[in-house]
Amino acid sequence: MNPAASTPARATSHPGAFARLAAFLSGHRCPGCATPCVGWICADCEHRLNRPRLRCVGCALPLTAALAAAATADESQAADTGMPAAAPQDASRQAPHTPPQPAAMRCGRCLSEPPPVAASYAAFDYAEPGDRLVQALKFKQRTALAAPLAALLADALPGDQAAFAASSAAEPAHFDRILPIPLSPSRERSRGYNQSWELVRRLPPTLGPACWQTLTRTRDTASQMALPLTERERNVRGAFAVQREAAGLHLLLVDDVMTTGATLFEAARVLRKAGAASVTALALARTP
Ligand SMILES: [Zn+2]
Ligand SMILES: [Zn+2]
Repeated sequence: MNPAASTPARATSHPGAFARLAAFLSGHRCPGCATPCVGWICADCEHRLNRPRLRCVGCALPLTAALAAAATADESQAADTGMPAAAPQDASRQAPHTPPQPAAMRCGRCLSEPPPVAASYAAFDYAEPGDRLVQALKFKQRTALAAPLAALLADALPGDQAAFAASSAAEPAHFDRILPIPLSPSRERSRGYNQSWELVRRLPPTLGPACWQTLTRTRDTASQMALPLTERERNVRGAFAVQREAAGLHLLLVDDVMTTGATLFEAARVLRKAGAASVTALALARTP
């Protein structure tokens, strides 16, 4: 008997009920909202994670449509007049080797104080349900989530050469090396793994080779989330060291959460100082 021909009318009239029953029987719960589901997350959480978000290409901060329009207008006005887009910049404040940062949507802070990265991208906001997914990966040993989360991470990168060219002239579509933000050896020992490395090693190989030895953590730092904004830069200063030759390389630097950018930017500064041609930051979740 052909099972597909048995009760097609009922199957199509209650697809939600059948999906819920299958989910209940599977015993699996969505790590984003704890409702029973059959996929790795439920359709509602998937929809919320995939919602398009306009972000500053400098720091991945979500931009409102109005802010983005203002940033773009400032840039085109600058192109028309030949004047800088934001207030005149103090050249000495720019990080050495910072690649040219052409017109793209940037927040006011990144316009006046360009970060030491070619660009920053994030897959989703550190807010429900994304925050729960990150916490499950990071604190609950749910490393099985790393594969689907790495797919979302890869999707956060501009998908074609034209998009890369628009975000930064110095940015390649393929990276010479992909690096995780390292944990200190003691923290990695107590957790048993580095969640950022679990993501990096599952990124599509076409993006570039993964490498965990290039960048190391020289000391433990307090959780950035527990600190006031003003303390965060100081907290990570001097926390990284470059262990492998990085001169001339285009690097992709991956972290699970980008809170203010202080950690990724400090690591990028160290890599640029070691001669890296460019560093692109990629975070799973961005604190909005
Ligand atoms: Zn869910
Ligand atoms: Zn920004």
